[in-house]
Amino acid sequence: MPADAAAADMRRPLEARLRRHTQGQAHFDAASRGRYATDASIYQVMPVGVFVPRSSQDVATAIDIARELAVPVLARGAGTSQCGQTVGAALVIDTSVHLRRVLDVDPRAGTATVEPGLVLDALNAQLKPHGLWFPVDVSTGAQATLGGMAGNNSCGSRSLAYGNMVHNVLGIEAWLADGALLDFGPVAGLAGRAAGLAAFVRDLARQHRGQIHDRWPTLLRRVGGYNLDIFDNRSERPYTEDGSVNLAHLLVGAEGTLAFTRSLRLRLCELPRARVLGVVNFPSFRRAMEAAQHIVRLGPTAVELVDRTMIDLSLESPVYRATMAGALTGEPQAILLVEFCGADAVALAARLRALDELMGDLGLPGCVVPFSAESAQKALWEVRKAGLNIMMSLKGDGKPVSFIEDCAVPLEHLPDYTDALTQVFARHGTRGTWYAHASVGTLHVRPILDMRRGGPDGGAARMRAIAEQASELVRRYKGAYSGEHGDGLCRGEWIRWQFGPQIDTAFRQIKAAFDPGRLFSPGRIIDPPRMDEPALMKFAPPEAPRPYRTIALTPVLDWSGWDVQNDPRTERTSAPGTGADTTGGYAKAVEMCNNNGHCRKFDGGAMCPSYRVTRDEQHGVRGRANTLRLALSGQLEGEDFAGDAVFDALDLCVSCKACRRECPTGVDMARMKIEFLAHYGARHGRSLGEKLVAALPDIAPAASRLPWLFNLRDTLPGAAWLGERLLGLAAGRPLPRWRRDTFWHAMAPADFIDRATALERARTGEPVAVLFVDTFNGYFETENALAAARVLRAAGYALHVPDRASGRGCCGRSYLAGGQVERARAKAVALLAQLAPLARAGIPIVGLEPSCLLTLRDEYLVMGLGADAQVVAGQALLFEEFIAREAAQGRFTLCFAPIAEPLLLHGHCHQKAFGAVSPMLEVLQRIPGARVQLIDSSCCGMAGSFGYEARHQEVSRKMAEADLLPAVRRGKDAIVLADGTSCRSQIAHGAAREALHVARLLERQLPAANPAPAAGAADSRL
Ligand SMILES: Cc1cc2nc3c(=O)[nH]c(=O)nc-3n(C[C@H](O)[C@H](O)[C@H](O)COP(=O)(O)OP(=O)(O)OC[C@H]3O[C@@H](n4cnc5c(N)ncnc54)[C@H](O)[C@@H]3O)c2cc1C
Ligand code: SF4
Ligand code: SF4
Repeated sequence: MPADAAAADMRRPLEARLRRHTQGQAHFDAASRGRYATDASIYQVMPVGVFVPRSSQDVATAIDIARELAVPVLARGAGTSQCGQTVGAALVIDTSVHLRRVLDVDPRAGTATVEPGLVLDALNAQLKPHGLWFPVDVSTGAQATLGGMAGNNSCGSRSLAYGNMVHNVLGIEAWLADGALLDFGPVAGLAGRAAGLAAFVRDLARQHRGQIHDRWPTLLRRVGGYNLDIFDNRSERPYTEDGSVNLAHLLVGAEGTLAFTRSLRLRLCELPRARVLGVVNFPSFRRAMEAAQHIVRLGPTAVELVDRTMIDLSLESPVYRATMAGALTGEPQAILLVEFCGADAVALAARLRALDELMGDLGLPGCVVPFSAESAQKALWEVRKAGLNIMMSLKGDGKPVSFIEDCAVPLEHLPDYTDALTQVFARHGTRGTWYAHASVGTLHVRPILDMRRGGPDGGAARMRAIAEQASELVRRYKGAYSGEHGDGLCRGEWIRWQFGPQIDTAFRQIKAAFDPGRLFSPGRIIDPPRMDEPALMKFAPPEAPRPYRTIALTPVLDWSGWDVQNDPRTERTSAPGTGADTTGGYAKAVEMCNNNGHCRKFDGGAMCPSYRVTRDEQHGVRGRANTLRLALSGQLEGEDFAGDAVFDALDLCVSCKACRRECPTGVDMARMKIEFLAHYGARHGRSLGEKLVAALPDIAPAASRLPWLFNLRDTLPGAAWLGERLLGLAAGRPLPRWRRDTFWHAMAPADFIDRATALERARTGEPVAVLFVDTFNGYFETENALAAARVLRAAGYALHVPDRASGRGCCGRSYLAGGQVERARAKAVALLAQLAPLARAGIPIVGLEPSCLLTLRDEYLVMGLGADAQVVAGQALLFEEFIAREAAQGRFTLCFAPIAEPLLLHGHCHQKAFGAVSPMLEVLQRIPGARVQLIDSSCCGMAGSFGYEARHQEVSRKMAEADLLPAVRRGKDAIVLADGTSCRSQIAHGAAREALHVARLLERQLPAANPAPAAGAADSRL
């Protein structure tokens, strides 16, 4: 029977039994399996099924069921492995959702016991009050689970000081394949079965002592194969403090092939009381490589490399530019981040001086930039950690590929090794970007390869050739082929090469002793496939049984910026639209997701609100991008692109655009959702509720004339209930109230100028702006628009307000959000006709509602609106952005009355996505006495109509309760500020507090000395 058919056959009984006998979730549909078919590697294999256990008992039951049905089992944490460790035709068991408790912390003993799905940063957050941390600080600390870290024997930036996972695990409780639950720990204390296994492995180690001595890389960074050397340590660092042997260390790095971890006991360290960082700037890459061996003698905790390409990429990133610029002197070709930790800042300052002196002795005086402030150090570490992801943002089919990126060599050989490998890349028509752990001889480097190109010149062939030549270098310099990221599918075949046939046989014997039926992770470590096997590739080449091909699709938005190819040597990309994408660039935009899992984060930033509250792979950016990729390449087994599987994956996306800014490769799911909804709507039609919500700006004029009628939904008993049934709008949510006194009603026409006057004023250089009044602030919250007008006029600006007649002054956002792109385009064309001439004259367009105004800067540029859209985007500014800009140029000099109350500020998601929160803070600081606290929150959960929809109630409220509403409740005396209409509604509904638009606060603080001048009289103030 073909493998696929066999897998399909196993699925039904497996699913049925898991559902019947466990409390966990069993996912067997094609989309769910597809989302677990890949990790941060180049591989993709459809799992038989996915199981998300709710308890340890669920795991034990699932292992039993799988064994009985002869279905392999594959343990998974965050799935951030780079070598394909979590990819396989198995039952994938995801521990990251529910099995993430800290079971015990013993601060005095310095130990913690945790479940395998716990994320490293979550553990460290709990340890911080005890002054402790778990020091294996992998770059993926915000995502990586302790079970996965142990599986891979992960290593952090500070491994020089703290070692790898294997040096920090004290014990593992784990199930064997036959269901036995064993405690693996110090060999001396073992009994029963575990003692028997220990004796077996010890005998093997004795038997192969000579080979272990001959073949084992004697480096800290060696994570390939099984740790047979625990009985005869070959690591640069002892595995245990007292020299004893711990059988748990055999499971570390075993990649889930020997046992399934139930809990881990970890050795904790004291948090360093002080840290300093010296950034050493080098005129050449080689000088940096030569210096590393000398620098480590000063006893740093970390020495991390960032090369010129990475420096340049960081300088191009709006998020990282300032931080990187602050670390540079001149134009270095490489920098080394050298960190010293200790109890005392004064002593550390002396070590920085020693670093400076050393560099002077090495002929590079004055090349060290010191970083003493903790926040500055943290920011620079973030840039370094983001290095790989920044590099992965290269557009086009050629991508930096991970397969030799963590070979480790002794430090004295680092300069020659990197030189030689660079030449290998050049011979293969590519180049590498180098970064990371110079302290331990493990430099990351990824040549750019096009994995979907087949044949002798294709990505896989080149990968193999480079891997072979790299392995010769590793051997020449007595290094370790796998020095950090493990073996997986990518390096499994190099285990025999590294350790030789005898040790390889010993590894087989270990596997047979632990897992004779090969239930756990088959094809890993023992009998691995070839690294370049076409059938295993995510972007499978033409020679693969199922080559990767995208469907034909005519997109409604312009994705041509992604439809490019790149040159692997120069990394330059071709012109937009030349990438031969059958979907006009949409698929290539989706394929930018490299599955690194950065969107599975919970602290800091805003990405991804729906994942944060559900922890469901389907509802994160990665899950959505994978679902789209599978749909666009016809891999959803009968479900096509405009089908329900994609709809379900995108349904909880609140279009907050956090991913647009925070995803290192710029996956912009909000825009992708618009594209999808356009096709989905065209196929399935739209509900009455969707149509009504989208048409709000068009209904508004009539509704404001008959507010009593349109407000009946919230005043007439039963109407809200009926509305929920007919329109899907949650009965429990009051709708915004229609009113007669809209902005256009309330505005005094004399206070505003017409278009001709505005143009004339711009010509003569007088202060003038367009006040773009959106539907929400214009019809529902008139006070906001009037307040903004008063403030700007008081500051001396004459204001022009676009004509709102016949829906002409609307941006079209409500249509766009629902995928009604044609209608949105019609709105945009009408608005641009009004705004473009003003923008061309250099008149700023100032808006109040972030989602509306920023549509002019974002989606308008991909809606085929031509040059008008470009020019308007160039002038579109949010109210605070405008004031901050004008103030910086000395044009906004208005003074405000002092304020006594504290201010609690919530930034709208789109303000965060466009870096528009800082201007809010700047503007508020203009109020004397202002004490502003920015709420560290993700999306408020309302997100346009999302929070009003009955089916989203639970998720919407959970999002609000994650950070925002608790912060509002805590800030009892504070004035709450929020510029987003949705955010204000959510705060009102959930915390019964009124939140103000910043314009309202500024208006309130206008002193009598700043009376609003009449239009035309503005310059009297100047
Ligand atoms: C951008 C990026 C940066 C990275 N930086 C680093 C770095 O600095 N240092 C580093 O070492 N690695 C790094 N990695 C690799 C990866 O993030 C780490 O190996 C990480 O520790 C894996 O954690 P995870 O939860 O994603 O594990 P997964 O990928 O889910 O699993 C890892 C292995 O552990 C096994 N496993 C998981 N749970 C269990 C269990 N309960 N029982 C038995 N086996 C189990 C899996 O089967 C698999 O073999 C990086 C990866 C990326 C994408
Ligand atoms: S969506 Fe972005 S952050 Fe998430 S896994 Fe993909 S590339 Fe990483
Ligand atoms: S737009 Fe927001 S909710 Fe949607 S995927 Fe991106 S981060 Fe998540």
